[in-house]
Amino acid sequence: MRVPLVAANWKMNGSAASIDQLLGAIAAGVEGIQSEVVVCPPFVFLAQVQEAIRNGAMLLGVQNINANPGGAFTGEVSTEMVAEFGCRFAIVGHSERRSYYGESDAVVAEKFKACLSANLTPILCVGETLEERDEEMTEQVVSRQLEAVLNAVGIDGFRQALIAYEPIWAIGTGVSATAAQAEEVHRVIRGQLSAKDSEVAEQIRILYGGSVKAANAAELFGQENVDGALVGGASLDAEEFTDICRSAG
Ligand code: PEP
Repeated sequence: MRVPLVAANWKMNGSAASIDQLLGAIAAGVEGIQSEVVVCPPFVFLAQVQEAIRNGAMLLGVQNINANPGGAFTGEVSTEMVAEFGCRFAIVGHSERRSYYGESDAVVAEKFKACLSANLTPILCVGETLEERDEEMTEQVVSRQLEAVLNAVGIDGFRQALIAYEPIWAIGTGVSATAAQAEEVHRVIRGQLSAKDSEVAEQIRILYGGSVKAANAAELFGQENVDGALVGGASLDAEEFTDICRSAG
């Protein structure tokens, strides 16, 4: 039985004041639900969020990390540093990082590996562009992105990890993948892992991300292989986000 998980990716949004308000409303809205709820604020708000969620059930994550343990990497933040703030999760390979900051499959694999060493659960993002989907290359692209990490950490590295299928054409566009489209790719991902270890494949949670809203969440979560969501825009709206979390169970 996979416990659903909904993660909020706040991206580069928020202020000290707005975050306090948002967290207060989310905490009240998700009280008593069975799913896990993770918030991923910008680094500068980690201490504030850690304090605000201290007595609740919400969990803390980050949107990115540097794979190096420390040293001359100006502007970067390591896994050990975020772990000190009670961080349990780290998003790796988000498409915005891949496209704006040139993160290759190899860099993403190194970040994934670094998370495991620091006991952080990586949330590995994979997904195709619209052009790749139109060319019927979705499966090939997603499998390549996943294989790069499998080659670096082996199937055992996925025992403590999550995967987020995030079609790039659905991120921030308001156009979500249909439940059937999401399920099809999630099935491919689980199948690829299953070929290496069926137990790991069965227990890993595969999230869907890309314009998830309260209005489409229940249908997405109703799919056999959709185990939750990674939510961008809608996670900045407490009512919308808590409705999504409640749909997950
Ligand atoms: C994301 O950036 O991970 C994301 C899913 O964004 P949105 O929900 O806004 O499409």
